[in-house]
Amino acid sequence: NQLISVKNVIKTYASRKGEVNAVNDVNLEIKEGEIFGVIGYSGAGKSTLIRMLNGLEIPTNGSIVVAGREVSRIKGRELRKARQEISMIFQHFNLLWSRTVVDNIAFPLEIAGVPRQEREKRVKELIALVGLSGREDAYPSQLSGGQKQRVGIARALANNPKVLLCDEATSALDPQTTDSILELLVDINKRLGLTIVLITHEMHVIRKICHRVAVMESGRIVETGPVLHVFKNP
Ligand code: ADP
Ligand code: ADP
Repeated sequence: NQLISVKNVIKTYASRKGEVNAVNDVNLEIKEGEIFGVIGYSGAGKSTLIRMLNGLEIPTNGSIVVAGREVSRIKGRELRKARQEISMIFQHFNLLWSRTVVDNIAFPLEIAGVPRQEREKRVKELIALVGLSGREDAYPSQLSGGQKQRVGIARALANNPKVLLCDEATSALDPQTTDSILELLVDINKRLGLTIVLITHEMHVIRKICHRVAVMESGRIVETGPVLHVFKNP
């Protein structure tokens, strides 16, 4: 039951110094229900890799299959449909600043054409799930960082995705808030069986919630395995 399969993926960018392989021959298999982490220093290629998993970047070479779809090949309507199944949260939340909590969470449902009544019911469930009851009508500027990320998570879960991609999702948060968001992600993984792929430069994040980890350096994965094997020494 592999959910994600990355095969011989290369991503090359042109730069002033010539071509850079941001991702350099990466192979990865991620199982359904896993919390999988990718750790590495800044510039290692983590963000490029995770962005290729939902088609935000297209590999220069190789193939990426997520939930039976070759995301590295699809475009247009099919890609938009795939992104409902492969959703993402971000370091800086990417919320709509002129919309309330409810409207931010409802946004992907509107795009998917979910009727109003059903939308309202779904948003209520999501608000309860992420612990934002009482903040329905707040604007993002009125929320704490942790609350903003809870909105991001609820929005990402709106269309019942198969995978949640987390791009440095706790890097803008203080340690205590980080822990509460990580606990929410574990809870969602357990309750919904949702597969989670996260990238981070913080060992603590990996240790706290990941089942398996890949270590990335200069575009390559240099080690993969269960967290306790990869980080033997505390
Ligand atoms: P990380 O997420 O681990 O910090 P990135 O994937 O952002 O790493 O970057 C990997 C490498 O690719 C870096 O050398 C970065 O400068 C380069 N890179 C990333 N995105 C682009 C881009 N759009 N154009 C040119 N180079 C890029
Ligand atoms: P980033 O670091 O990517 O800018 P932010 O979460 O700060 O992340 O911003 C996300 C988007 O919202 C950006 O396009 C930014 O310009 C916009 N934005 C941020 N803060 C505000 C604000 N107070 N009012 C309106 N737009 C904002």
